[in-house]
Amino acid sequence: MASMMFTDCSSISSSLLHVNGRRGAILFRHCVGQLRLRSTASARGCSISIRCSSSPSSATSIDGKAVAKTIRDEITVDVSRMKESIGVVPGLAVILVGDRKDSATYVRNKKKACESVGIKSLEVRLAEDCSEEQVLKSISCFNDDPSIHGILVQLPLPSHMDEQNILNAVSIEKDVDGFHPLNIGRLAMRGREPLFVPCTPKGCIELLHRYNVEIKGKRAVVIGRSNIVGMPAALLLQREDATVSIIHSRTKNPEEITREADIIIAAVGQPNMVRGSWIKPGAVIIDVGINPVDDPNAPRGYRLVGDVCYEEACQIASAITPVPGGVGPMTIAMLLSNTLISAKRIHNFE
Ligand code: NDP
Repeated sequence: MASMMFTDCSSISSSLLHVNGRRGAILFRHCVGQLRLRSTASARGCSISIRCSSSPSSATSIDGKAVAKTIRDEITVDVSRMKESIGVVPGLAVILVGDRKDSATYVRNKKKACESVGIKSLEVRLAEDCSEEQVLKSISCFNDDPSIHGILVQLPLPSHMDEQNILNAVSIEKDVDGFHPLNIGRLAMRGREPLFVPCTPKGCIELLHRYNVEIKGKRAVVIGRSNIVGMPAALLLQREDATVSIIHSRTKNPEEITREADIIIAAVGQPNMVRGSWIKPGAVIIDVGINPVDDPNAPRGYRLVGDVCYEEACQIASAITPVPGGVGPMTIAMLLSNTLISAKRIHNFE
């Protein structure tokens, strides 16, 4: 399937009339109602009310910002408990190669997030033209540093570097991004446990858990199969006993397949690709996409949209993450969570 740009999904009413002759489908949209969090360790003591609009045309908005805040508060408590009990502060090292503005912004945000929960962060900046050996040397130093519990190499790396080689060099015990092939391999195998799960897919599943969305036995469709989002998201859903289909750029009938899904995770990088007509009534949608589209009325001349046409999806789905404010804040929260998990494991702290 050719790559397409889907920047506009403004004509909601007219597109609804063409939902494959299922205009009445929205009547089946169920209301999730007032839910309490599952009493898992990660959800301890918290509750979230899912908004249930009386309007038949508005899905529950899955508030990633609020969930991420709850998780960060939980992490703050655990970090200070750890410091007080055994005098250990979790530490995250970030390696940034080159001077891509977007990468620098992501690294800055990660450092700020660490500070906000009491995690120590260290940053190494290397020049765009540095050698692969220099990057490997920094990784090796952090692998040996007992005050560092997580190592993150900001991607993408400059083209002259072998990404695989570099990611493989991160100690599996400190691989808080979860990209080490051993961690991914364990994620894929039944009966094996990865030490870390990649942050964005972990955040997607955490949102489903915290909103009490049942996964077991459900039909799930993941759109996108990248190593960092789509593929691990599909593996995670499968581990939770969903029946999973993966859609990619060569899939012939993406709309038809997606329409079968109770749960959709979209990680494509194509603005508004998933239209209302792709969605089964009552489906739950996690939209990972972050796509800038021109908007002369926006202060910066652009705005961010997801891979799913939010306005149309809202009328058919039962719940959906907004962009921004959905998966994005969860990714950083899961990085902090992975760093804390690592420090706890290394110091055998419950
Ligand atoms: P990649 O470009 O690495 O992967 C995109 C995937 O989508 C590929 O598997 C590709 O298929 C598939 N794809 C592309 N076009 C189509 C199409 N027209 N139809 C069907 N499948 C298609 O992207 P990422 O996984 O890194 O990111 C995806 C999106 O998520 C981006 O918008 C990114 O900005 C966002 N993102 C958001 C994060 C967050 O924290 N919220 C974190 C990471 C990413 P194929 O494999 O065949 O090429």
